[in-house]
Amino acid sequence: MIVVVGSLNMDLVTYTNRMPVIGETIIGKSFKQIPGGKGANQADAIAKLGSTVRMIGCVGEDVMGETLLESLYKDGVDISMVKRVKGVATGIASITVDSSANNSIIVVPGANNMLSIEDIKEYEQAIQDSDIVVAQLEVPIETVKYVIKSAKLKGKITILNPAPAAELDDDLLSYVDILIPNKTELELLSGLQVSDDNDLYHATQVLLNKGVRDLIVTLGSKGCVHINNSGTRVYPAYKVQAIDTTAAGDSFIGAIAVGLSEGMSYEQVIPFATAVGALTVTKEGAQSSMPLRSEVEAFTRK
Ligand code: ADP
Repeated sequence: MIVVVGSLNMDLVTYTNRMPVIGETIIGKSFKQIPGGKGANQADAIAKLGSTVRMIGCVGEDVMGETLLESLYKDGVDISMVKRVKGVATGIASITVDSSANNSIIVVPGANNMLSIEDIKEYEQAIQDSDIVVAQLEVPIETVKYVIKSAKLKGKITILNPAPAAELDDDLLSYVDILIPNKTELELLSGLQVSDDNDLYHATQVLLNKGVRDLIVTLGSKGCVHINNSGTRVYPAYKVQAIDTTAAGDSFIGAIAVGLSEGMSYEQVIPFATAVGALTVTKEGAQSSMPLRSEVEAFTRK
């Protein structure tokens, strides 16, 4: 069983030919309200790929919160540990996607900011019963620290997606088994600029020296790199027609958790996650773009 601790947001997505500049009003192409939030996306990806998954997080007592929970439940996520907080709005993300599939995002955390250490203590048994615990940085950092440390001390595999980009203290990093940043997040965490393969290697060494066991750096259409103390391996991306890159990282991370919980090696799980990430960019939205296991199997058989 996999536990995901993190955010639930309603994504308010505007599709447009180009991004507006400051002070400009433009006419967009279309608008959609799609369930999202890094935590919820990762939980949703895990459920669709066929693993048992429990989500720990917070929504408000409003229609958006209700819709988010219904959507996760429908996809097979155990939502019994998602709290409904009075007097606070459910988190939202205002997303703009241009015709080249680039996105820009503003997140208003709302209820996600209410997820406390006390809440985690209440659900400690779920962590105890799990094999893998996955967290990101869209809920309070103290809560993330507590979860990762608690899971690691219970002997669980800990996966941290350090997104959105933030600096993290060494104590937290020392309890992370698998850190999955993209390039921007890696730069902020390591304090180094990453312009080429050599920079990337040096930046990852900074984090391995802080006690992270494995690093998987995702590089969008360039694929990803897996680095640990035994070496470095590059995994190219599949060539697909990208429609919307939202949540590629989330589905990739969900797939890593699923594969590891099934006992896959890194050489098996990373190509699996790469296929899941590729399929995600071929569809619009976050949870709406997460592929089913059968779709991944059909795609990799081709
Ligand atoms: P994030 O959304 O966190 O920035 P990435 O964009 O790096 O994450 O995507 C995660 C993974 O999804 C990549 O490592 C890659 O395997 C896959 N992926 C992302 N974008 C594309 C793309 N345009 N084409 C094919 N695969 C992609």
